[in-house]
Amino acid sequence: MSLADLHQAAEFAALRATAARLGKDPLQIQGPGGNVSIKSDGDMLVKASGTWLSDAMEQDIFAPVDAAAMAAALRASDPSADKPAEFLLAEGLRPSIETSFHAALDAPVVLHTHCVATLARSTAPLSAAELNALKLVFVPYFKPGAELAREVLKAWQPDAVGAVLGNHGLIVVGDTVAEAEARLDKVSRHFNTGSVPQHDPDPELVKDLQGTGWSALGSGATTALAFNPEALATLTGPALFPDQVIFLGPEPFATDLPVAPPPGPPASLAMFPCRGAAVPENASPACVALAEMMGEVVFRLPETPTRLTLEQTLSLLDWDAEKYRQVLENERTARLAGGPQ
Ligand SMILES: [Zn+2]
Repeated sequence: MSLADLHQAAEFAALRATAARLGKDPLQIQGPGGNVSIKSDGDMLVKASGTWLSDAMEQDIFAPVDAAAMAAALRASDPSADKPAEFLLAEGLRPSIETSFHAALDAPVVLHTHCVATLARSTAPLSAAELNALKLVFVPYFKPGAELAREVLKAWQPDAVGAVLGNHGLIVVGDTVAEAEARLDKVSRHFNTGSVPQHDPDPELVKDLQGTGWSALGSGATTALAFNPEALATLTGPALFPDQVIFLGPEPFATDLPVAPPPGPPASLAMFPCRGAAVPENASPACVALAEMMGEVVFRLPETPTRLTLEQTLSLLDWDAEKYRQVLENERTARLAGGPQ
């Protein structure tokens, strides 16, 4: 089937509908996260970088990619496998950085979400029996891109229907969109432990934040973290997954007024114990979506979750670890000298 025919195919229409449904479910997709693809005769339509799955019905969010060539580059360890734009079949939208695992997997349909239940569960070891029962493979955390795609291929089994990506999310495959979607729903239900606490912000906090450049999050699970000291301590530890780092910074921080973010890369989720949570007033919709998701993840975490290392976290931000240590050292020196923090 030619790319033009694929665009017109009923299966592509089904994929767009599924993409929009998943994109509008905050327990599956937050902001521009996640991606879906469909292949035919070595060509592939894959979600473009920076687009939102929730827009799939109203906009063209797909980029056409030579999947066969990209998969070959990946298998040959060619550095171009980390540059999805080099495999574009037409000018326009740039393919997602996660295009490589879509290209690498043979199945016609691939869905990838940041399912909060799967993500939370992926931070503790999964037994082989549990994975086998679901026909899933486990892939430990790797930075999204060609390296992660190679690890997915390494872990893949002939009868696998999907992969749990450690500290990241879920991949499922199918011969059809309906098959892949049914598998995704089954895995999500399996890992979901039920609803989590929700809480309103302290109305005084909402008022006190006026004019500070920060605005309180509304009622929800992340606001509820502020009222639960144990969960709050879990949230304010090292980062748990890549989109958290990209949209909210290396670590959410607990603070009082005035808001005092930590030194280093910008941090966009401020927690006020027993009062609520806040993001910068000018926060993007993606930042707000990720901030609102944090509570849904943290309340579902196992007791001692695996976290990203400092190196893994800084590498997502293109921050050099040495530069970061220098910023921390300068802040400490200023603090000891009684200067500005
Ligand atoms: Zn992802």
